Amino acid sequence: MNYYSLNKKAPKSTFKNAVIKGLAPDKGLYFPEHITPLPKAFFENIDSLSYPEIAFEAIKQFISPEIPEAQLKTIVEETLSFDFPIVKLNDSISTLELFHGPTMAFKDVGARFMARCLGYFNQDNDKEVTVLVATSGDTGGAVANGFLGVKGVKVVILYPSGKVSDIQEKQLTTLGQNITALEVNGTFDDCQAMVKTAFLDEALTKQMQLTSANSINVARWLPQLFYFMFAYKQLHNDYDNIVFSVPSGNFGNICAGMMAQQLGLPIKHFVASNNENNVVTRYLISQLYEPKPSIQTISNAMDVGAPSNFIRIQEIYKNKFETLKENISSYSFTDEETKDAMLEMYNDFDYVADPHGAVGYLGCKAYLEENTNAHCVFLETAHPTKFLDVVEAVIEEKQALPEQIQSVLGKEKVATKISTYEDLKRFLLH
Ligand SMILES: *Cc1c(COP(=O)(O)O)cnc(C)c1O
Repeated sequence: MNYYSLNKKAPKSTFKNAVIKGLAPDKGLYFPEHITPLPKAFFENIDSLSYPEIAFEAIKQFISPEIPEAQLKTIVEETLSFDFPIVKLNDSISTLELFHGPTMAFKDVGARFMARCLGYFNQDNDKEVTVLVATSGDTGGAVANGFLGVKGVKVVILYPSGKVSDIQEKQLTTLGQNITALEVNGTFDDCQAMVKTAFLDEALTKQMQLTSANSINVARWLPQLFYFMFAYKQLHNDYDNIVFSVPSGNFGNICAGMMAQQLGLPIKHFVASNNENNVVTRYLISQLYEPKPSIQTISNAMDVGAPSNFIRIQEIYKNKFETLKENISSYSFTDEETKDAMLEMYNDFDYVADPHGAVGYLGCKAYLEENTNAHCVFLETAHPTKFLDVVEAVIEEKQALPEQIQSVLGKEKVATKISTYEDLKRFLLH
């Protein structure tokens, strides 16, 4: 499959090149040239397929023959080595739990898949690839874990000193092997600015192959379409009109759901659930797309002022505002509303949600008020104990730490402190 740049000023790219480079040379995001719907029989027989079988069929057109089918099957099986359960709250709302992977955030699937694709492409290459990521918390852990031990790939993670949770810091700094953590004396924005400078620094990129691992990368973005199929498999015998409410930041996850819909998955509608960083909510009302600096909230993985994947959503709906509006609604919620929702779920359904999932739950409720004939699934994108302080304060109950989290807490942190871009460059070139 070839990919084109959404800025339309770069040559077409293979999948391999798109994975290694991340962005097109004209700085556009890559998008697949064709999307061929899966046969109807695939959805009719979905009950008889395992998750890896579903995933393989769904993604193969975007990747093979560049990765041969046998290897792609192995990559998919290794990526999906944990569960994706649906929990029904009542007859109109369910949640799809995406936090059963090694770092307990939904980004595990994309990171594990991308790592294995890069590893495949790099196996006969003596030139190492360096994955450079800035993280405000969850991305770094998922990427570090996903790439751990992958041959030919080095991972360098920049995180803001004192601004990630203890659990998140341990997830970033205790892995060793091919993973290095840089503790930056600054904010997340400083980390991101350093990474951007590095990608544009020719003195550096001439000497090393740098790539990114956020959802602009097609190999991290596309595998997220599996989630929607896994939910469908679990619910389609009980409900017809399935709607997904996706807690959204960079809009990679919801956009992957739209790809699943393009592949023929019967999804009635999408709800983009936002915290107060609500550029898309406002766009759907005013038709004016006005990014602004992000505001800090308790659902901080969604504190994004200019969602990078929104341009892919516009491409899917052929840049037609009316088509987009038919397929997607968007609502925005305050931190107070989010906490109330966490408490409501705890009291009414005995369900402990994290703040991101709670925003998704609120999106379902808002949609169902206007559309009664639907079953709404909100994606629970992180385990509640990853946001322990907020969760325990709201529901006033201590939470037991799952094994994945306990196991990192006892390990020793190893990080190199840096302050400036020059420090980063010196580190990379050493
Ligand atoms: C990254 C993240 C999101 C937002 O996902 P996007 O694909 O950027 O929209 C939501 N919740 C959690 C917990 C995340 O880590």
